[in-house]
Amino acid sequence: MKVGFPRSPARRRIVTACFLSVLAIALTACGGITSSDDDDRKVVLTTFTVLADMARNVAGEHLRVESITKVGAEIHGYEPTPGDIKKAAKADLILDNGLNLEAWFNQFVADLDVPHAVVTEGVATMDISEDAYRGKPNPHAWMSPVNAQIYVDNMVRAFSDLDPDHAEAYRANGAAYKTQIGAVHDDLVAAVRTLPADQRALVTCEGAFSYLARDAGLTEKYIWPVNAEQQATPQQIGSTIDFVRQRRVPAVFCESTVSDAPMQRVVEASGARFGGVLYVDSLSEADGPVPTYLDLIRHDANTIATALAGTAK
Ligand SMILES: [Zn+2]
Repeated sequence: MKVGFPRSPARRRIVTACFLSVLAIALTACGGITSSDDDDRKVVLTTFTVLADMARNVAGEHLRVESITKVGAEIHGYEPTPGDIKKAAKADLILDNGLNLEAWFNQFVADLDVPHAVVTEGVATMDISEDAYRGKPNPHAWMSPVNAQIYVDNMVRAFSDLDPDHAEAYRANGAAYKTQIGAVHDDLVAAVRTLPADQRALVTCEGAFSYLARDAGLTEKYIWPVNAEQQATPQQIGSTIDFVRQRRVPAVFCESTVSDAPMQRVVEASGARFGGVLYVDSLSEADGPVPTYLDLIRHDANTIATALAGTAK
């Protein structure tokens, strides 16, 4: 696992000194950042909300965990704000997914003197098979609960390095959380197994479900491989319509962080139903359908199984 500093110590001190003096002025001008004065816990920043929820489960009450991107944010092409950089400079550890999920991340941390850990370290990746991303690892590894347990192991290790006094708590929290993740995996597999074999096809907007589809025994089809500026070409939509017609797929889906307009065209042309919104790249707000990672997997499994079984509205 990568926890460390990429530059020489001498250069790091210079960069840090310059940055901190700029930061001090900025903080004075802005009246401080969000931390409350009576909270002296170490701060862990994650790149997106799914990782933040996982990290809170491992950290318990011993660390303060925040996400750089907010609920509903598009994670791939996110553009960090000056406020994000200020917040990151004050953090004790940053967790990123890696596998090119956060296209903005390397530049974001280049001038920061904060260690970061890549939570996909050790995950067996699946390659993207189409378009410009062909042969690159699919970054959505957390959509497999089996992989999510590896994320937890990496978090336990990173938090124990950061705060050895609570290493035993992180290990125990991680073990308990992995048991819950395992149960969600079992429910996912069981839900899909109730479907007739010829209806086990998952059609989505982004190709973000390769890992979940593999775990659950679903054939995956998507309109575009990775969320990017150019989405949903006529060829991509046409290919998806052909797949839905040929397989007689009863329902198709789209993700919460992108427009479902291209998938609605598939619906119109193919006669399939729109089966619902799936969550991948962001949790919902606390009062929404998926405030936690476990909720996210449960929600997606239920939405998929219900719609493909034909019992949805
Ligand atoms: Zn994505």
